[in-house]
Amino acid sequence: MKKRTLRQIHKSIAREWKRYLLDKRNRFKRHTVLGLRAASKIKYLVERGLLEPARKHDCVDCGDQANHYDHRDYREPCVVEPVCRGCNSIRGPALPLLRSEQHLWTRGIR
Ligand SMILES: [Zn+2]
Repeated sequence: MKKRTLRQIHKSIAREWKRYLLDKRNRFKRHTVLGLRAASKIKYLVERGLLEPARKHDCVDCGDQANHYDHRDYREPCVVEPVCRGCNSIRGPALPLLRSEQHLWTRGIR
């Protein structure tokens, strides 16, 4: 590999950092919007009686009483599973994930 000057290295780090911050901000915005949209869809279905409230179900992970419906992918707002609060936090955030987080998930760190 070609040897880079300190200035070039600094520039590439700055570029990488800027990309990371932009990606994080965009992901957060997108994730929040999609999440709210998916949650409101479920709320609507429950209110109309098309879906039973989560409390009437058992948690699919531990068998306790479920508290809410968990989305694994906000792009599919109707695909949900009833879970308790503890299991929901263990499950972590729904897709789509931030690009910089994806490798952490596949390595099982988070
Ligand atoms: Zn549970």
